[in-house]
Amino acid sequence: MSEKKWVYMFNEVDEAEKTVGGDWEKVRDLLGGKGANLGDMTRAKIPVPPGFTVTTEACLAFLAEQNKFPPGMWEQELEAIKKVETQTGKKFGDPKNPLLVSSRSGAKFSMPGMMDTVLNIGLNDLTAEGMSKKTGNSRFVYDAYRRLVEMFGSVVLGIPDEAFEDPMAEYKAERGIKSDTELDTDDWKLITDMFKKVVKDQKGIDFPQDPYEQLRLSTEAVFKSWNGKRAVDYRNAAGISHDLGTAVNMVTMVFGNMGWDSGTGVAFTRDPATGEKELYGDYLLNAQGEDVVAGIRNTEKIQNLEKEMPEAYQEFLDICNRLENHYREMQDVEFTIEENKLWMLQTRTGKRTAKATVKIAVDMANEGLISKEEAILRVSPDEVDTLLHPQFDIKALEKAESEGRKIASGVNASPGAAVGQVYFDADKSEIMAKENSQDVIMVRPFTKPDDVHGMLAAKGILTSEGGATSHAAVVARQFGVPCVVGASEIRIDLERKLMEVNGLVIKEGEWISVDGTTGDVYLGQMPTTAPSLEEQTDLLILLNWADETSATPGIRKAPEGWPSKGLEVWANADYPADARRARSYGAVGIGLCRTEHMFFEQERLPIVQRMILAESSKERVSALDELLPYQRSDFEGLFEAMDGYPVIIRLIDPPLHEFLPSEEELLEEVITKRVKGETEGLAEKEDLLQKVQAMHESNPMMGMRGVRLSIYMPEIVEMQVRAIFEAAARQTKAGVTVKPEVMIPLTGTVKELEWIQPRLERIAKEVMDEYGVSFDYKFGTMVEIPRAAVTAEEVAEVAEFFSFGTNDLTQMTFGYSRDDAERNFLVKYVEEGILPENPFQTLDTEGVGRLMKIAVDDGRKSRVDLEVGICGEHGGDPASIEFCHLIGNNYVSCSPFRVPIARLAVAHSALKYREK
Ligand code: PEP
Ligand code: MG
Repeated sequence: MSEKKWVYMFNEVDEAEKTVGGDWEKVRDLLGGKGANLGDMTRAKIPVPPGFTVTTEACLAFLAEQNKFPPGMWEQELEAIKKVETQTGKKFGDPKNPLLVSSRSGAKFSMPGMMDTVLNIGLNDLTAEGMSKKTGNSRFVYDAYRRLVEMFGSVVLGIPDEAFEDPMAEYKAERGIKSDTELDTDDWKLITDMFKKVVKDQKGIDFPQDPYEQLRLSTEAVFKSWNGKRAVDYRNAAGISHDLGTAVNMVTMVFGNMGWDSGTGVAFTRDPATGEKELYGDYLLNAQGEDVVAGIRNTEKIQNLEKEMPEAYQEFLDICNRLENHYREMQDVEFTIEENKLWMLQTRTGKRTAKATVKIAVDMANEGLISKEEAILRVSPDEVDTLLHPQFDIKALEKAESEGRKIASGVNASPGAAVGQVYFDADKSEIMAKENSQDVIMVRPFTKPDDVHGMLAAKGILTSEGGATSHAAVVARQFGVPCVVGASEIRIDLERKLMEVNGLVIKEGEWISVDGTTGDVYLGQMPTTAPSLEEQTDLLILLNWADETSATPGIRKAPEGWPSKGLEVWANADYPADARRARSYGAVGIGLCRTEHMFFEQERLPIVQRMILAESSKERVSALDELLPYQRSDFEGLFEAMDGYPVIIRLIDPPLHEFLPSEEELLEEVITKRVKGETEGLAEKEDLLQKVQAMHESNPMMGMRGVRLSIYMPEIVEMQVRAIFEAAARQTKAGVTVKPEVMIPLTGTVKELEWIQPRLERIAKEVMDEYGVSFDYKFGTMVEIPRAAVTAEEVAEVAEFFSFGTNDLTQMTFGYSRDDAERNFLVKYVEEGILPENPFQTLDTEGVGRLMKIAVDDGRKSRVDLEVGICGEHGGDPASIEFCHLIGNNYVSCSPFRVPIARLAVAHSALKYREK
């Protein structure tokens, strides 16, 4: 049996592909994203420096065996080095013509800056001398050598960065040197020696002179970095599996710092902030890649390279176009030019803002590069959520500017408005955000991978250094955190925990507002507004495509009579204004109007209270007669806004005490009056108190509410049904197409429906007769109680539709009271893995979902065309929506603000489970 292959040369990508059965995803599993693409580019004859990839399998085997290379791996790595020697004509460790390599991590999914890299492996005292002679540029060689010692020290040996940075800063300060470009050969030699001493002092070992030892330890370090804290944090935040492992890429060094005919840069094939189709990036002449990414020197815009190196620039443009067409995705590339020769060091799918994601998807579909369906799938519902997030109010911005509260400007690295209190370190930012629930703006000169936990906890990020491709910018964009980088007017004093800008001092804990869309920074708290959907043309196009997809008949596998289109998206709306917003966001129905909200309005509440406290049915009916016109006019507004679309109106649900003053409040008033000897109004208060006490329930949420209340006191719902049908009749006469659906809440047994529904249906018919009109309508029920779900077959004999009230259904299925659970034990339950997530946000498909499935299946046994929806909060949650698709719901109903998110989620489900 041949030995397992742990190492693939970049030009062996065909072999790797064959080994995994031709599946490119599996090549990425094996070689990591970077390694796979380096191989792929090599195969496409794009200039990539020779090198090889040690597989993710080797990493996993190494970690599983307590950090021991698997048998044969090291030997294969040595052989691979030999091949690179042949390919380059250089020799590893040869003083005359030394081969240098970089070791770069590369997991399947890119984790920018999360994993460790070591450059210039192969340099030692001898090869440095030899290379100096060969290149005649010893300044450059010793700069490279000190970088190796520094990176090796920090990455491989775990020495803190400050141990190198501090003596270097001291060295420069002593000599009055401001910029690294002022350092000459002797300086770099001295600094290299200084760094070697740091290694010796910190670790008690000499910096390894043996290049193979450097290679071996660097390989190990990359493997180990897979389980480093920052990598684990990043994967947790990005939802990447911890079982993938990372590959190690050993790439021949090419140098962008060989002189002014050399340079290095990073670029995106489209603008990652806006999505515009134009090259976006920066470069630096006479510099190494790290200088660009770390944002230490001020970079040039990529377009300027055309003037400085026209040929290399043209070649670079061509390669970018080829890569985008090949991968059918926006690419993020790294390149180096060594003495006018262009080398591509990396290509990967570029990270981008939500706005850019949508624009690029729509543009690429219009360009014919991808299909509309691919475009839909490229945007996640969460990204739509981000796009509808608050932005600063334009008027407030103008005012702040005129008042001189705009304090700085930088690069608009990640859009959105963030308001928060300033903290200058990642740990403190995380603590303040998580433990004190503060809105935090994390402010740093620049960020490093170790800062990610603070960045994720912050509402916004501000740095004084770095550019659009700096670490802060890349991470912020990916996680949708508003971010401004390179606000260079700001001076940050980390020790004194303050920042200074144009004489103004801002201390830790003070408020600022950061506009990641424009790059501006303001003092104080600026008001924000929700962006309008109408202005987001690309998103509207995408959502229309999504709707078309969902509405395709036959896209869903469905038994006879069941819905074979995807889900529709309806909205929960109580008032006509909500309904209009829901329509403008694309909802095609109202799934829940909570009528009791209308009872709370100022002029109505006293009538409602009179109705509740009535001593006789006559008194009650008279109060209800007063309420009827109010309800009717609300319903008229709803029907008008939803012309042609169904409107589900739920009859009164909450316990009546919610409309009355609280017992405690009344008791206090009565006692105060008694103590003060005030007789005026005392008797009424005492009477009210007595009635409220009489209505006391030990557990009102499980007491007299919903249909139980309607049976106990039918006058209220009789009035409501009359108001609904009068409103519908009037609107019909006015030419509106009405589709009223009356929903009875909290049903537990069909007998409840059998008792109440015929009475209400009689009223409906009466009203239609009175008005001489007729229209379609339905009577149905909410499914919120497990018993209703498990007896659905009988329930559906009376109910013409079901709507899952998953807020209550979750409470009742788990036996949790939501408020108590969320306040007390739910966080611990999720942390301990007892629950995968908060079941009030994401549907518990195994328990609550099981009941829902039973209800749909059994309900449709007695009524095959039973209309089924969901109106609990889960109706706007993408994972829960997918489940509703699978069990055969007709629609999901959610808050109007979540309608666009749901429209996309619904299309994703339709495509994911498409009936082929
Ligand atoms: C539900 O229980 O899911 C529901 C929509 O009703 P409410 O939230 O009003 O109890
Ligand atoms: Mg409910």
